[in-house]
Amino acid sequence: MKRTLAFLTSSIMLLLISCSTDFGDRSFGSSQAGISYPNVDPQLHEYFQDFEKEAMQRGISIDLIELEISGVIENIGEEGVAGSCQFGNHIAHVTIDKSFWNLASTSIKEYVVFHELGHCVLERGHLEVTNSDGECQSIMASGTTDCIVNYNNSRRDRMIDELFGV
Ligand SMILES: [Zn+2]
Repeated sequence: MKRTLAFLTSSIMLLLISCSTDFGDRSFGSSQAGISYPNVDPQLHEYFQDFEKEAMQRGISIDLIELEISGVIENIGEEGVAGSCQFGNHIAHVTIDKSFWNLASTSIKEYVVFHELGHCVLERGHLEVTNSDGECQSIMASGTTDCIVNYNNSRRDRMIDELFGV
């Protein structure tokens, strides 16, 4: 979060959402809403908690409350944008587009929330790498290239490993 630039916004395009595949869903949103995050929309809490949990399972300790990440679900209004992260000095703010949220599956909600936390918390930029099947290799793909998002149970672990640099 200690960026030299005072203010940066990064967004993920909704484009990539439309080509996603959704399977069974057992491992998605598995956290019970046990932790309450101040200044974060309650609908995002379980995803924030899963982010911390996935980090912990990879030996990385992340406390989103301590980091004072805020998050809202509201209309972004910019065509095709599902989420954004504003970060800089004294701000780390996730915005998820309301119309995207209302239509998205649990797994794609997780994908977009993790993408934004990748910017806001892990300080990652976009990574456009396509594997031989034409799939985006990273959760940090911007959605502006033509790689296909395939975030299903069999690929989720690997993509989260990549997200956390494991
Ligand atoms: Zn992004």
